[in-house]
Amino acid sequence: MSEVEAVATRFEGRPPIEVLAWAAEAYPGRAVFTTGFGVEGCVLIDLIASDHLGIDIVTLDTGLLFPETYALWRRLEERYGVAIRGIEPEQSVPQQAAAHGDRLWASAPDRCCNLRKVLPLEKALRGQGAWITAIRRDQTADRAVARVVEVDPRDASRVKVNPLASWTSADVWAYVRRNDVPVNPLHDRGYPSIGCWPCTSAVAAGESARAGRWRDQQKTECGLHTRPAQAPFEIHLNRP
Ligand code: SF4
Repeated sequence: MSEVEAVATRFEGRPPIEVLAWAAEAYPGRAVFTTGFGVEGCVLIDLIASDHLGIDIVTLDTGLLFPETYALWRRLEERYGVAIRGIEPEQSVPQQAAAHGDRLWASAPDRCCNLRKVLPLEKALRGQGAWITAIRRDQTADRAVARVVEVDPRDASRVKVNPLASWTSADVWAYVRRNDVPVNPLHDRGYPSIGCWPCTSAVAAGESARAGRWRDQQKTECGLHTRPAQAPFEIHLNRP
């Protein structure tokens, strides 16, 4: 069994705080959590901040988030006394429109996501040893095979840490209610999954939680968690 596999097996089914604490200890000053302020991300912010773990919290500020999401960002910082660093794309929204055409999200959403999310993510992860995410296995096909700890499919020099991989939506909401975690008010208005405003719509009863993301398009992921066909599977881990 590989080193990464052994750690993944050790933490499978364990409380997320144990996984986070391991990452903070194994990668001091080089562990970063990226969040889009989904309900799962709010749970991890609560855990990281409540235990004062040395994990940098970062968001990819596309410039196209809902006003409610920007308000939640500030609310979380105030509630937990943490600074959540925003990473912006190279170009503002008007600059992108001038260079690539207006409403790139409608004409070429993959390109838009690459410019506004994927490239800024790569900037945020440069030099980091552990990338912590709030993905759950039951969210999308790409996420279904996520391990609690795995070699980052984007870059084999890093581990990807998914403390909520085995949680369900019900687990997440139970935690939120038990701990009074601030979440986006849009969830109560039919938006279970929230991204940029041009690409997010409310879902109807019976639709999947992500049906409102890139509605009427083939796209299901922004590209942050997409796996290449041959993902790397082994690196040497830092030892806490
Ligand atoms: S979610 Fe939509 S608006 Fe946001 S970066 Fe992707 S394509 Fe662009």
